[in-house]
Amino acid sequence: MSDRSQLILPIPPPPADAMTPFVPARMVNEWVYCPRLAYLEWVEGEWADSADTVQGKRAHTRVDKGGGRLPAPDELDEEMSQARSVTMSSERLGVIAKMDVLDIRDGVVMPVDFKKGKRPHVAAGAYEPERVQVCVQAMILEDNGYEVEQGAIWYVGSRERVRVNLDEELRARTLEAVRDLRGAAQTRTRPAPLENSPKCPRCSLAGICLPDETNLFNRGYPPRPLNPSDDPALPLYVQTPRTRLRKKGERLIVESQDETVEVRMIDVSQVALFGPVSVTTPALHALMRAEIPVSWFSTGGWFLGHTIGTGNGNVAVREAQYRAAFSERRSLSFARDLVNAKVRNSRTMLRRNWRPERGAEDKQDAMAGLKRIARRALHADDAQQLLGFEGEAAAIYFSQFEKMLAPSGSEGFDEFSFTTRNRRPPTDPVNAMLSLAYALLARTLTTTVSATGLDPYMGLYHRPRHGRPALALDLMEPFRAILADSCVIQAVNNGEVKPNDFVSNGPACSLKPKGRKALIAAFERRLDQVATHPLFGYRVSMRRMLEVQARLLARHFQGEIVKYPHYLPR
Ligand code: SF4
Repeated sequence: MSDRSQLILPIPPPPADAMTPFVPARMVNEWVYCPRLAYLEWVEGEWADSADTVQGKRAHTRVDKGGGRLPAPDELDEEMSQARSVTMSSERLGVIAKMDVLDIRDGVVMPVDFKKGKRPHVAAGAYEPERVQVCVQAMILEDNGYEVEQGAIWYVGSRERVRVNLDEELRARTLEAVRDLRGAAQTRTRPAPLENSPKCPRCSLAGICLPDETNLFNRGYPPRPLNPSDDPALPLYVQTPRTRLRKKGERLIVESQDETVEVRMIDVSQVALFGPVSVTTPALHALMRAEIPVSWFSTGGWFLGHTIGTGNGNVAVREAQYRAAFSERRSLSFARDLVNAKVRNSRTMLRRNWRPERGAEDKQDAMAGLKRIARRALHADDAQQLLGFEGEAAAIYFSQFEKMLAPSGSEGFDEFSFTTRNRRPPTDPVNAMLSLAYALLARTLTTTVSATGLDPYMGLYHRPRHGRPALALDLMEPFRAILADSCVIQAVNNGEVKPNDFVSNGPACSLKPKGRKALIAAFERRLDQVATHPLFGYRVSMRRMLEVQARLLARHFQGEIVKYPHYLPR
């Protein structure tokens, strides 16, 4: 008997009542593997596919089809038979399992769990989490009146069956895991991330859990280069008037008068529709089911709203967000850092992109002025004072904005000028581009924030107002110059957008379809550019950077990170 078994008392978890959700056997497996993983998936509803999870689904394709029949306990006879994909629960233990295969022989039932991959070469024949999962299945069968002597695991990769010995030690470990998982769910105690664990780099939830990033703040460990992989799916923009979007199988068909384009749904992260574009009901249903948000814009690029599915069901993170937003102290502390970061990033933008041919006379004054305001923002008395600092900084930044545009006569450049920021409506081409770029960034962050489980409409600096994605706008502030302004500057300086790509209507200036297409392309390219995270040191696309920041904010709201680290590139 091992030391461990001597410490475990086989106390069953309290019986489940009508209000207690049954714990799936698969989650008990994950709890033993990593308690935080089980909590994130089962309690907070987080999920992300990885190569491992996709392979796992494939390994179950055959058994998931079902087949055979499990007779009632008193009907079992000497015959050998098999039943596949049988779901059963135990109220005593408060657990439920979908059992891949049940082998029935001489009146005894043996649960056989299917696992992808090859049999591991470990003394017990299989890893502990997998044995615990089989043990849950066996105990459920026993509670339903079946006789079980042992379990088994079928390793699809090596086509080997490994017996699972249902001894007292395994049973005690299983009961302990069920009890602890239910206890964590009831007390809403999210387990801490594993420390420097080899499990994390291959965990499908690493990009959501952020184990090393969270540990960096709390324990000071330097993060491993745990590079959250990029989602290869990209936004689909539809902006030709009277285009129709429909669904065919697993593909989206975009039909306009001039052309028909097909895209696989798995390649689409979100759909952005400009002006009079229609979507069929089956296509909308499929997009909602796949949690692909559809954003609606006016013809002029004004962000109107979203159509989304049921969304991320993580209520705990929204509760924590509301608690932070209702606390004046926490909101002010967050807002001070936010305005400081926004002003510092505007300064970084000017410093990096100031064109030498524009002269350097005003540069030092602008740099010093922005630095001073950023510092003062950290000591603001209230949000009103912060708004004043933000206005002062914007006045300095936009008075020098033209210094970042290539002057007339530069290669690839046509005439563009900029004197001051104006909007609603923008009255000149550069302002029209800035307005569209900000709308694109707000839309991107609204969907990013929603995907993390946060409520994009409840901000800490931007206060809630009907239809305003206040939290997305909060998160957007430090990125305005770095992402939106920078894509406008690139589009102008590279000659991607020309002065004849604009149309004026009264005082309003807006982009023609060709210019808008070019600016959207520049914006998406900017999001795809890779940068080093200033704190963690790994390189990710700016698109992924936005998600990392949103998830860090969720961790901050939930108390795992004391101070939210705003994005501050050097
Ligand atoms: S990343 Fe690591 S700590 Fe986080 S859930 Fe996965 S295994 Fe657990």
